[in-house]
Amino acid sequence: MALLTDKFGRTITDLRISVTDRCNYKCVYCRTGNEGALYGDLPFADYLRMASVLVGLGIKKVRITGGEPLLRKGVVNFVSELAKLRDSDGEPLDIAMTTNGDLLAEMAKPLKDAGLGRVTVSMDAVDPDRFARITRVPNGYDNVLAGIRSARRAGLWPVKVNCVLMRDFNEDQIIPFGMFAREEGVVVRFIEFMPLDEGRTWSPNTVVALDEILRRMGEYRPLVEIPHAHSETARRYRFEDGIGEIGVIAPVSHPFCGHCSRIRITSDGKIRTCLFSAWDHDLHSVMRRGASDQELAEFIRGVVEKKEDRHHIGEPDFVPASRTMVHIGG
Ligand code: SAM
Repeated sequence: MALLTDKFGRTITDLRISVTDRCNYKCVYCRTGNEGALYGDLPFADYLRMASVLVGLGIKKVRITGGEPLLRKGVVNFVSELAKLRDSDGEPLDIAMTTNGDLLAEMAKPLKDAGLGRVTVSMDAVDPDRFARITRVPNGYDNVLAGIRSARRAGLWPVKVNCVLMRDFNEDQIIPFGMFAREEGVVVRFIEFMPLDEGRTWSPNTVVALDEILRRMGEYRPLVEIPHAHSETARRYRFEDGIGEIGVIAPVSHPFCGHCSRIRITSDGKIRTCLFSAWDHDLHSVMRRGASDQELAEFIRGVVEKKEDRHHIGEPDFVPASRTMVHIGG
């Protein structure tokens, strides 16, 4: 079977599926606070069929996301169905989830038992008041902390905690997150803020970039870089004494489009070949019209062939993406 490749020779092995664009948090850098869900969602059987066709084309990793994926009833069962699929080498898939962690404490063990391998929890401050101001939800911090600890206990390993940093907003959280990584035994990854917010407030000045994050963290404790695979989006570092790992995902200051291996399916069944795509491709319509698996595969191949070479963040010709992060699936 020919692998799924685009015209730049990149092989697509990672799939992200958004199972809803609803979210119970209204993080100020992501949402305006006035918009709810904008797109529908599909029966899990439809996502499963799409995933199964894509796995037949070489997908090895599937990440379930949203919106907030844990809001979707039946998501545990969806994981167990995904876990039955085998990749092109006959191996089980690497199944992961990105969640705000609010509902994770109760669900971590069932998710692990269903076949989830890893979880990434989003968290943008390690202090309860600041956390509430960012998420616009009172008392979420304790839920998320309980979710992270429950995920560790359940063996959803490694637990990664993703923090989006914004200038004059939460950049003072860099060192507290370094301490958090060491104390909680989680990998904290800082993500550069991208122009994908509903409010379109992004500007280059709002980005706290990789070099600055490393410099500030280095003032707390020296860091040692961990060699990473080309396809890994995060640059990884451990503290010099061997306790604690952090990472930086730097799509703005150090783009990694050249080895992008991802495609996404939105909650309403559209394929997106890039976070910054100006349009998406309606896989669900093709399915609804009665296409066979082979026809779906041909459609997918045609779409992937046209994957964008790179994003144009910060360049004069930048065109905003047709959807914002919460409605794509981060
Ligand atoms: N609700 C889940 C969660 O909170 O992880 C999944 C969806 S959320 C949109 C996925 C990730 O995108 C979160 O880590 C969030 O912080 C990140 N994110 C949202 N807007 C972003 C932006 N403009 N730039 C970079 N990351 C962003």
